[in-house]
Amino acid sequence: MEGLSRRVLATALVLLSCGLFAAPLRATDVEKHVLCAGTPWATELYVLRGPAPGPSVMVIGGLHGTEDSGWLTAEQFLSKKLANGTLVVVPRANRPAIKRHVRYTTHDLNHSFPGSPKGGGESRLAYEIMQAVGTYHCQLVLGLHQGHGVHSRDSRRVGQTLITGIPRAKDDFPWRVVDKVNAHISNRADHFTVDIYPVDGSSSEESVRKYHNRAFALESSDTYPLAKRIEYLRLLVDGCLSEVGMRYATAPAPTASVPPHLPMRARASLKARSRD
Ligand SMILES: [Zn+2]
Repeated sequence: MEGLSRRVLATALVLLSCGLFAAPLRATDVEKHVLCAGTPWATELYVLRGPAPGPSVMVIGGLHGTEDSGWLTAEQFLSKKLANGTLVVVPRANRPAIKRHVRYTTHDLNHSFPGSPKGGGESRLAYEIMQAVGTYHCQLVLGLHQGHGVHSRDSRRVGQTLITGIPRAKDDFPWRVVDKVNAHISNRADHFTVDIYPVDGSSSEESVRKYHNRAFALESSDTYPLAKRIEYLRLLVDGCLSEVGMRYATAPAPTASVPPHLPMRARASLKARSRD
């Protein structure tokens, strides 16, 4: 019996060392995958899962290599702890373009969807991103961008917009999100606007066409300093995640990290949420 007990104990220790008896994850479990592995276009895709069932959302940064607030904001979501759902993040989609700080190197990635598995460069990357939208059953896809100007001041500009291809009568989701986010931005001149502006070959258009989900481009304004561009994009992404019922397990970024130039109402909101 003593020998048997020792064998049982030894087996249990081996299983523990393999993690098979490990306690269930209470915070967010993170997987890492690589799209276009082994090519110059290789880029990471992360999957964050909360412990409870919930919505599945994809956030894509770096579709354009000059729009730094897009990929820097996307990266901030990698440290989130989810209470529910699945968050798929491709923080730096077009790595060759980001490295050279150009919009694209050979073809505009956001005009390359649906792409092809046999295509080169952006075409294969677009294909693999869109495959992942299906693999993870993403009901919402958010492309993070940075545009010129502020749309509410000059309708020819796309800065501070949530861009959709679907009119309000068919889906008022974007307007609900923008209204809630703007309630936290005291300076009306900085408010977001919904812009109906379908772009052929974009991640948004292809995602909606292929999967009949919701997909938007979120644009910060390049007229603001980088920290402010990131904070505004974060507010807009948070607004979208909240609207589909995704919840964080822990507080968002501490108030101390909020840049001092953010409007007071946005700062107060972040402070309030940090106590949740
Ligand atoms: Zn862009």
